Amino acid sequence: MARLDASSASRAEGAPAGRRTSGGGRSAACCLECGAEYERQANREFCSNKCRKDWNNRRMKRGAELYDLYMAHRFDRANAQALGVFQAVNRMASNFRAEDAVERAGRRSWRATRTVLEERPYLRAVTTRMRMGRMGV
Ligand SMILES: [Zn+2]
Repeated sequence: MARLDASSASRAEGAPAGRRTSGGGRSAACCLECGAEYERQANREFCSNKCRKDWNNRRMKRGAELYDLYMAHRFDRANAQALGVFQAVNRMASNFRAEDAVERAGRRSWRATRTVLEERPYLRAVTTRMRMGRMGV
């Protein structure tokens, strides 16, 4: 199974939802959206419903912009290559990051890669099966 770069999930790079233990063993965390510290309850990643909605709305909007281009990159490769789709996707990501610098004071707008993959074990299962198939032949 492929290993992830642990440094991509480090707090130094702005990995969201950092946990800190304050006095008395209470758990504090930083809101993924606004960066404010709040008292963690269960698996909540946000200090408020507004922050959760703002985070998810931005991701939905950005994801919708990326979807058609990424699907073309993956499944209509010749056409996508001729049209420079991958360059457009990279440019879009750079624009998102520039927006984050202005609108989010540079705070990361995406979850830690390890967290995303851990929440979706089916993504690793597919990768493992393909690798095993190749190795088994
Ligand atoms: Zn917040």
